[in-house]
Amino acid sequence: MEWIPHSRPTLGEEEVGAVSRVIRSGRIAQGEEVARFEQEMARRVGVKGGVAVSSGTAALHLSLLALKIGPGDEVILPGYVCLSVLNAIRQAGATPILADIDPASYNLDARDLPRKITRKTRAVIVPHLFGLPADLEEILSLGVPVIEDCAQGLGGSYQGKPVGGFGHLAIFSFYATKVIATGEGGMVLSDSEALLERVRDLRGYDDQDDDELRYNYKMTDLQAALGVAQLKRLEFFLSRRRAIARRYAEALALLGWTLPQEDPRRQPIYYRYVVGLNGGAEVERFLAACLQQGVGCRRPVYRPLHHHLSAPVLPHSEEAWQRNVSLPLYPSLEESQVERVIQVVKKAIEP
Ligand SMILES: *Cc1c(COP(=O)(O)O)cnc(C)c1O
Repeated sequence: MEWIPHSRPTLGEEEVGAVSRVIRSGRIAQGEEVARFEQEMARRVGVKGGVAVSSGTAALHLSLLALKIGPGDEVILPGYVCLSVLNAIRQAGATPILADIDPASYNLDARDLPRKITRKTRAVIVPHLFGLPADLEEILSLGVPVIEDCAQGLGGSYQGKPVGGFGHLAIFSFYATKVIATGEGGMVLSDSEALLERVRDLRGYDDQDDDELRYNYKMTDLQAALGVAQLKRLEFFLSRRRAIARRYAEALALLGWTLPQEDPRRQPIYYRYVVGLNGGAEVERFLAACLQQGVGCRRPVYRPLHHHLSAPVLPHSEEAWQRNVSLPLYPSLEESQVERVIQVVKKAIEP
């Protein structure tokens, strides 16, 4: 039986060629390819510039430091997102404050956010979860500095403008399973030269005269060449993602599950195709049944963050975690594999 993994990067001869060229050049650490990847990402997102780093988490950490956020400061994040976001806030020494999500979009609930703002609030981290742009207009109107977390959102847009161009800073991840992949990797994008300069300064420890704490968060030219090659194929990746999502929507429409919502303000990229099953206990059984049939479905968020912080339960984050499963969806998924996923998930739900 053929195994269909939950995610897989889409790599081909372009990528092999790009990395080989860097190896032959003999210059494999941060150099010209990194500068090129930064420029091309900034151009695609429509902002002034970017700073490539070693991961999305490093990008979040340096974004917080660039905003001079540290001990005693509060940073708001949603309760339903991966641990990376929480860890970056802790790495900066700041206090994480959880807000709940909107059950219709799984993104930060702009109505819960004002209740979490205090005199100590210094920023809010806004993920575009599963590739669906968050309520940027409402969130920006609160006047708190925004770090957009575009780790799952590259290529999406909000009211026609690419995500990543709305916040003070935006971060991206190029981990192996993300929209474009470099193995590990991340980037900070911004319209502010001053913020970018601070991120650039903190990225490397060498050749410094003062005593400020800096990091080694650099990306290599090997990764950046891979990133440039992947970025060239982004439009194709996005159209494949949309086509697979359309097929899932059509095939699963009548099962009574909660499917991704369409909304004219947001242009999603279907980074994940997340389905809300009915009733909590079902999820484990569903995942096991899919696994047994060779299809890798998963919980799209491993645990809600209030479980980690032993904070009060955020009802919508908790419910999303209890109900949601994510189906395989990536550009290299073949038509026949899409049909098999549909067959297997439909059967997995039968008692
Ligand atoms: C993947 C991801 C990150 C972290 O990126 P890494 O490159 O794995 O450090 C942060 N936020 C979100 C929403 C992500 O999906």
